[in-house]
Amino acid sequence: MKCSQCSACCKLFMINLTEKEYRSKKYQTVFEKFGFIEDFKEAERNGANILAMNEDESCIYLKNNKCTIHKRRPTACRKFFCDSKNPQFKNMIEKITRHVKNQNSQP
Ligand code: SF4
Repeated sequence: MKCSQCSACCKLFMINLTEKEYRSKKYQTVFEKFGFIEDFKEAERNGANILAMNEDESCIYLKNNKCTIHKRRPTACRKFFCDSKNPQFKNMIEKITRHVKNQNSQP
């Protein structure tokens, strides 16, 4: 199935950066105003490696339903496809399906 570019995945889920991505300091993260945490395990425990979000909790890099950093999007974004058969994504896919159904049922 081809991506319909509904961007639901960019609106519904928090994106965890890998250690390399976090250390690159090339991505805006949720708690960056409090400083950078050198110990990545501690950063993960504190959620410091999560991509920053807009007020509506969509990804900070989502603009007009498009990823503004598509070519360098994080690994987590590259791995996820909403037609994946990987059981790891089952709950996420169900959440997206509900979200899209709700949107389509709005007048
Ligand atoms: S980085 Fe891009 S692909 Fe990943 S959640 Fe944000 S807008 Fe979506």
